[in-house]
Amino acid sequence: MPRLKHVKGAEEAVAAHPFAVPEERQVPGGWAELFGNGAPVFLEIGCGKGRFLLGQLSRRPERNYIGIEMYSSVLLRGLEAVDAMAAAGAEELKHIRFIRRNAIELDRIFAPGEVGGIWLNFSDPWPKERHAKRRLTHGRFLRLYEKVLAPGGVVEMKTDNPDLYAFTLEEAKACGWDVLFKTEDLYADETLLDGNIATEYEEKFVAEGRPIHKIVMKPQQPEI
Ligand code: SAH
Repeated sequence: MPRLKHVKGAEEAVAAHPFAVPEERQVPGGWAELFGNGAPVFLEIGCGKGRFLLGQLSRRPERNYIGIEMYSSVLLRGLEAVDAMAAAGAEELKHIRFIRRNAIELDRIFAPGEVGGIWLNFSDPWPKERHAKRRLTHGRFLRLYEKVLAPGGVVEMKTDNPDLYAFTLEEAKACGWDVLFKTEDLYADETLLDGNIATEYEEKFVAEGRPIHKIVMKPQQPEI
């Protein structure tokens, strides 16, 4: 299995990278200190090679960003993209960091209210019913997001997978979340694409003519 060999080198390279936060510094309530400012932290879970998050950073450099990715070999590609930006002298990089972690540990990484918003782009659909709990929009994940999101913070998800889309709407309903926006074909309407940042997967799926689905949702807030 050549992939395993790859992963080993990747782990070390990630651990040594200045933009990868070591696990002992991934502490709830510690992010303002790490970033040196109290701006909200926006997360992409399953950030892949990082293009989307770096795009968000360029657009809104005043926010803080964390890319969360489970696999070192994938995360390393994102860190290489950071290196390229750093070489070009990108000042805003002080607002972005990456962590190699499973999102199921989210409440051990962020304190309540510490997260401004969450993106889930082309998350693994886990089509088998017995793997449903691994889907990043399963109720157990929505309850975690609810714990760490600041008031008004939203979760935005994009997928090419109609089943994951339908599942997400069901889980949102079951958890009492508000669906603020949904479409089964983001690219059908140019106005919807305003401000859209295409991810690596998205570019591939769009080229194949697969419709991109999108949902924006948030936990229900108590009436004031
Ligand atoms: N967002 C990227 C990559 C999508 S693939 C894009 O749109 O191009 C989904 C990614 O999510 C994979 O890299 C996978 O390793 C990661 N992932 C899946 N489950 C995860 C979890 N529980 N925690 C962290 N990352 C996860």
